[in-house]
Amino acid sequence: MFRGVIFSGDILQGRPCARRRIPPWDGVRCLEVRPAVPTRVLVYDPRFLEHVSSPLHVERPERLRAIVDRLKAERLFSEVAKPAPASISDVERVHRKTYIEYFRTLTEGFLDPETAVHPETFDIALLAAGATLQAARTAIREGRPVIALVRPPGHHAGPDYGGGFCYLNNVAAAAAEQVAEGRRVAILDYDAHHGNGTSEIFSDEASVLYISTHQYGIYPGTGPAADVGKGDGRGFTVNIPFTAGCGDSSYFIAYDTLIEPILREFRPEAILMSLGIDAHYRDPLTSLALSSPGYVELVARSAAAASSLCNGRLVVALEGGYHLDAVAEVVAGIAARFQGRSLEFRLKDVLDDKGRGRGAIEATMAVHRTFWNLR
Ligand SMILES: [Zn+2]
Repeated sequence: MFRGVIFSGDILQGRPCARRRIPPWDGVRCLEVRPAVPTRVLVYDPRFLEHVSSPLHVERPERLRAIVDRLKAERLFSEVAKPAPASISDVERVHRKTYIEYFRTLTEGFLDPETAVHPETFDIALLAAGATLQAARTAIREGRPVIALVRPPGHHAGPDYGGGFCYLNNVAAAAAEQVAEGRRVAILDYDAHHGNGTSEIFSDEASVLYISTHQYGIYPGTGPAADVGKGDGRGFTVNIPFTAGCGDSSYFIAYDTLIEPILREFRPEAILMSLGIDAHYRDPLTSLALSSPGYVELVARSAAAASSLCNGRLVVALEGGYHLDAVAEVVAGIAARFQGRSLEFRLKDVLDDKGRGRGAIEATMAVHRTFWNLR
């Protein structure tokens, strides 16, 4: 389905090896000149508040309103860019024409029982995709992190389906545009749910590294360690299937021993993050246990990797996260960290300081030692 630049496979000693398929690093792109003028760090549009899937739906406008209110209270709601909608051709890079047309003309209906479509839904979903595309263009042009404050989320939307509160895959569309321009892109999906849509869209692509940490066994049921992608994409899908209770220490171990080493070997030219905040211990939908400072530290480590690997080209795009104080505190903490400030956190209980997720991390490492240099 996905049509971008596809890097041809190499053969190392007669044996296909994912690592050998990575083309030489185009270091020139990472030396682009930074503009001297202040640049945007947030992309947001109040139209995102107009999307209401159904009354009392957990993916509700208050999520984004809480984030914006907290950013304003912390004087972090500055440098805000208004997005343009994605074009149909932008989303056709990751979705089939038939699906887009079905969604566009549905007007009233359901993509699944919890993903309702109304007359305004298609345009707002295009705007969310457009905001994420714009964030990626800015991050890549200017070499700095950009946060896309969007809804509806996108990572459950696949080539020919929506669902799980998702309609169009925002991060996948942004990644596909960059790959079409010849760049190698890493997607870090920290949402508590496996990003089945993103994973499927890029499953056979060597030019997109997809790494997901998620609670395994809950919706959508996909994302075992053994799913490594297919065809030319084998090795470029990395699933870390945590169990209930995994929190700060498990995520840090996963980041340090698995995520960053693979990132360094893959050498992305941009990093796109699907930031779901539903792995927070206060989240009502899942049983993962990240604290607010833990989330901010995880994102900060990822941003440091973006700084050293690809000139700071990082996009943070909002996915899920359903506890209002938690999502607001985490996003504000990230925005503050990007500006060299710190925030006073209220939701800072560390419920996992023993590395409960070591088993899942080891299972993933065992599978991926075939493809990557992991200890
Ligand atoms: Zn989620």
